[in-house]
Amino acid sequence: MNSDRVIGCHTGKDRGPLLIALGGMHGNEPAGVRALEQFFTLLEIEPSINPEFSFCGRFVGLRGNLKALRRERRFIEKDLNRQWTPENVARIRRTPRQDLENEDLELLEVLECIEEQIRDYQPAKMVLLDLHTTTATGGIFSIPTDDPESVRIAVELHAPVIKGLLRGIRGTTLHYFNTENMGVRTVSVTFEAGQHDDELSVNRALAAITNCMRTIGCVQAQHVENRHDELLKEYSQNLPKIAELIMTHPIRPGDQFRMLPNYHNFQHVDQGEVLAVDQHGKIKAPEEGCILMPLYQEQGDDGFFLIRPLEFF
Ligand SMILES: [Zn+2]
Repeated sequence: MNSDRVIGCHTGKDRGPLLIALGGMHGNEPAGVRALEQFFTLLEIEPSINPEFSFCGRFVGLRGNLKALRRERRFIEKDLNRQWTPENVARIRRTPRQDLENEDLELLEVLECIEEQIRDYQPAKMVLLDLHTTTATGGIFSIPTDDPESVRIAVELHAPVIKGLLRGIRGTTLHYFNTENMGVRTVSVTFEAGQHDDELSVNRALAAITNCMRTIGCVQAQHVENRHDELLKEYSQNLPKIAELIMTHPIRPGDQFRMLPNYHNFQHVDQGEVLAVDQHGKIKAPEEGCILMPLYQEQGDDGFFLIRPLEFF
């Protein structure tokens, strides 16, 4: 197996779920990769400082878009986290490997790595945790699928949970990694750890990994102290505990989309407020809500998301 792809693999003495954590599906988001690198180091020394510690299941950390990570770009040709539609995956599988390049090849390698782990470990359940960061500040939240267990894991990550976000976009890992496609009970969740270059994003990703392991039973609550958890709890104060998607603003080629400056994640916006401009004119909020993932980088297919808070911390 490609050692650049695999950050680490830890198999506990006891059987349990297969937890796959992905970092750097976007090459300009190294925080998840760094958190995973640190986590595997911690796992190695944990039994010597904490004799009670035991791990149930197998934990595998993978780098997502290797080529884009090396170049510190979101992607090379196309967004790897928008390629996971069944039709596109089938097309890539049909194509001779020597004809694949860039994101097509990255997708195949990630998928083959995960399928190899399933064959090898034969888990009763696989959990996929996809670690990301955002361009704007304050972007710390979890994205579940419609699966109730995914929502439960997302809530336990201790960050705002955004429901319905997947309805606004296509082809993310969360759309693909489900029980139907994987042939084994599969639950997926995405964690956005904060701003791309914020050092604390690494710590928050570490906290999310720990919280996820606790929720799915890889580790016992009394055996793990989670120093970084306070970071999440502190941050989440006054933010929605659960929110739902109102709308997304997709960008079409040639739109010349430009977000107005100084929007940050979870910022309240009024109905009719001008949020961005493009070649068609002003783009206004269709209703009152909170802004999420305003785009302040050149690469990206979504200008912003608008959400409606349902419940607060
Ligand atoms: Zn991302």
